[in-house]
Amino acid sequence: MDRPLLNRRLAEFGTTIFAEMSALAVRTGSINLGQGFPDADGPEEVREAAVRALRDGRGNQYPPGPGVPELRTAVATHQERFYGHRGLSYDPDTEVLITAGATEALAASLLALLEPGDEVIALEPYYDSYAACIAMAGARRIPVTLRPDAATGSYGLDLDELRDAVTDDTRLILLNTPHNPTGTVLTRDELAAIAELAVERNLLVITDEVYEHLVFEGEHLPLASFPGMRDRTVTISSAGKTFSFTGWKVGWVTATPDLIGAVRSAKQFLTYVSAGPLQYAVAEALALPDTYYTALRDDLRAKRDILAAGLTGAGLQVFRPSGTYFITTDIRPLGAARSHEGDGFAFCRALPERAGVVAIPNAVFYDHKDRGAPYVRFAFCKQEEVLREAAARLQKL
Ligand SMILES: *Cc1c(COP(=O)(O)O)cnc(C)c1O
Repeated sequence: MDRPLLNRRLAEFGTTIFAEMSALAVRTGSINLGQGFPDADGPEEVREAAVRALRDGRGNQYPPGPGVPELRTAVATHQERFYGHRGLSYDPDTEVLITAGATEALAASLLALLEPGDEVIALEPYYDSYAACIAMAGARRIPVTLRPDAATGSYGLDLDELRDAVTDDTRLILLNTPHNPTGTVLTRDELAAIAELAVERNLLVITDEVYEHLVFEGEHLPLASFPGMRDRTVTISSAGKTFSFTGWKVGWVTATPDLIGAVRSAKQFLTYVSAGPLQYAVAEALALPDTYYTALRDDLRAKRDILAAGLTGAGLQVFRPSGTYFITTDIRPLGAARSHEGDGFAFCRALPERAGVVAIPNAVFYDHKDRGAPYVRFAFCKQEEVLREAAARLQKL
């Protein structure tokens, strides 16, 4: 067998860093602020709704391909409730598709909409499944780098760089706001400029909005609500982050009937359907009162502030996130020796021994590894006492 088993398209994607770092956390008894999953489950009544659905025999057999009607209606109602004032609404029968998390929604959308050789513009650093799915579709990723601004302590999009990245081969822009790992929430002006560019160059946009309810400053503006975008935007979200059930993998796509039809063609041969009983429970979750959504946000904002203070106290530069549950830091202020020459990989591999905490080197989210080298990501979707203990341990740095 002289030929490698893993095909050329996927050869560059080994095991994810999350597996390596989570194993390291277990081995060293460290606090795991690497992988972004909450350490407390979502609302009890939502769990009970899932149990009820299982017992009542709802969803235990293949649910309908597009998702159960109750959940499609709940997604449409949610979009109207939160974004109707911006003119956004969707028909639950033709414009909503339920998927196995946002991950499958992304995979199905990219596999459905791309031809081999198409170019996809994605904001770097980006979520790790983007690159792999673009590769599976045989397309080419064109990263546009979000630039850290030490003065403002946040990340910004260079609109000229974005414009220059568009070629005749560009098929779509893959966007993520609020943005993992930087915590950036794209501004109204940035989104308006992206929308203008998409219209001008006739591009589709896939927008990953899984952190839509985790915005601490400013507001989440769905790209689909900008002029000319309703018909060319595939909007993706999921229950994982909003309801703290990342293991359920219930996600959804909203778009025009034509786009939904295309994405469904790919989706039906990936999982066909998934998580039947859980779909009923997520339908109930989406209908939770506003107090649920504001409490989630306020809780995470307070947690952000605890961890940010700890990281600052430890000597790292903190890019204060406006959204998501991640904080990106620059390790260089620690000095050459203590920051492992600003190498985030070396820093993260040593951090469990040095301080009993696990984090993720942002370089894994970059094509330009050098641009991401000195940055390290910490998750704060953990119990307050866990964050306080992590903050205390980090002072050893
Ligand atoms: C967590 C996450 C996803 C995956 O969502 P699932 O619903 O768990 O599949 C997608 N995109 C981003 C940016 C994420 O952080």
